[in-house]
Amino acid sequence: MRCLAALMMALSCGSAFALPQQSAVPGGIVILPLPAGLPETVTARFGEDPVFIDKDSKGERRLILGIPLNAEPGPAQVVIDGSKEKQTLDFSIGTKQYTEQHITLPAGDKHINPGPEELARYAREAKEQQAIYKTFSENGAGWPGFVTPTRGELTETFGLKRFFNDEARAPHLGMDIPAPEGQAVIAPASGVVVQTGDYFFNGRTVMIDHGHGLISMLCHLSKITAKAGDRVRQGDIIGRVGHTGRATGPHLHWTVSLNNARIDPLLVLPAASKPVSKP
Ligand SMILES: [Zn+2]
Repeated sequence: MRCLAALMMALSCGSAFALPQQSAVPGGIVILPLPAGLPETVTARFGEDPVFIDKDSKGERRLILGIPLNAEPGPAQVVIDGSKEKQTLDFSIGTKQYTEQHITLPAGDKHINPGPEELARYAREAKEQQAIYKTFSENGAGWPGFVTPTRGELTETFGLKRFFNDEARAPHLGMDIPAPEGQAVIAPASGVVVQTGDYFFNGRTVMIDHGHGLISMLCHLSKITAKAGDRVRQGDIIGRVGHTGRATGPHLHWTVSLNNARIDPLLVLPAASKPVSKP
C-alpha cells in the first residue's frame, strides 16, 4: 500500500515534489539547471567528485549539488564533462555561522583522549567511510523522497562547532535526533545497504547508498537488523536507537552526504517535517 501511495504521489506531483531545499552555504545544497542541448551522456563534477543529475517531470536535467562544510564562501563552479567544449556552471557560495556546542564528558572517557591504538582504529574506520562517501552508484532513478529515520524532535545540530570538555573538535557533520533506546530506525529513503559495523566514535552504524553519490549514515545504534547488500525501501527497519560509540545518551545520529559533501539533513526533508529546535 505504502509503495502504491508513493507512486501515485510521484505521478501526480512530478519529481519536484521530493526536491531538497536550496541553501547555497557551506553544508547546504544548490540546484543548477543543466543547459539544454547537451548530450544525454554528459556528467558533472565539483572538484573531483561526480555530481547528482536529476530529471524533472518534463525531462529537463538539473544538478543537485552538496556544498562541503569547509567550502570557502565566494564564486564556485561545476564542470560539465562529455560535451564538445568544456562547460562550467557558475554559482556563488554564501556564508553561514554555525553555533558552538559545549559537551562535558567524564575526564577519563577514552573518546575524549583516545590512546594510540584507538587513534589507529579511528584512522582506519574514517578511511573506510570516506571511501564509501566517494562512491557514485547507479542505485535509484532520480532524487528520492526522504522521511526522518526515527521518531523524535528534529534539531539544528548539523555543523555545530563542537567542544568536548572545552577542547575544540571537528564540527558535527550530521543531525542528532534524541529518541528512546530500542526505538525503530528506518531507511529514510530507498537504497542499498553498503556498510554496517561497530565503530569507535560512531558506534553501531549502517550506511545506505541512495544512488548517484547520495549516501546516509545512521549511528550509535543498539542493534543493527540490516546487512551489507540489502536493498531497502523507504520505511524498512534497519536497526534500533542506542548510544554505542561516543554518545552521551540514546539518540540517532544521521549524516547525509552528497557528492562527498556532508550536508544538513534538514534540507532533504519535506517542509512538513519541521518544526526545528536549537540544541
Ligand atoms: Zn551526532
